[in-house]
Amino acid sequence: MSFLGLSSGKTKVPKKSGNVSSLQKQYLLKEYAEQTLGSGNLRLAVHLPEGEDLNEWLAVNTVDFFNQINMLYGTITEFCTPQDCPVMNAGPKYEYHWKDDTQFKKPARVSAPVYVDHLMSWVQSQLDNETIFPSKIGVDFPPDFKTVINDIFRRLFRVYAHIYSIHFSVIVSLGEEAHLNTSFKHFILFVKEFNLIDPKELAPLSDLIESLVAQLKN
Ligand code: ZN
Repeated sequence: MSFLGLSSGKTKVPKKSGNVSSLQKQYLLKEYAEQTLGSGNLRLAVHLPEGEDLNEWLAVNTVDFFNQINMLYGTITEFCTPQDCPVMNAGPKYEYHWKDDTQFKKPARVSAPVYVDHLMSWVQSQLDNETIFPSKIGVDFPPDFKTVINDIFRRLFRVYAHIYSIHFSVIVSLGEEAHLNTSFKHFILFVKEFNLIDPKELAPLSDLIESLVAQLKN
């Protein structure tokens, strides 16, 4: 993993001089992302900061979106049960079947909570994999890093899609609507900035995405 302290050129990211560890640097990048987010300018918040490493930026934001989605889904788990949601979907037109390299080699039609559980555990295992997300200084990201990132974002999108399509009224009754919308808007702008998800995959929420992006133009 390359690291900020050694990058050449100008950078707007605050950093300590000297031997900044990779984890400290990730912390500084995260802090920078939070500051720009706090300014309310989401377009600026997704932008790769000047002089920064793209993979580093993708990694920090992936962890952040994973945590946000974990928290958002956590607020509705008592309403997303195998009885209420016997299959993972984004409305009647879109059904998702779980597949992975270990337990489910063939796509399996599982309930939404089981699907989300597999999905989040899978993302966590990618994040914990030192060969994909190295935490040590001097260890590079793998050549297929962008492919892994694309897979993670494609899957994380499905959790937003399920929450919006099936549980939005609960989100509203919990007063979590603004939180969800801000998180999703940030997610979509980030996805568009770095071309992380095939537009076809975004179809279940295409109307919402259009209106969120249009709001930002005003
Ligand atoms: Zn559900």
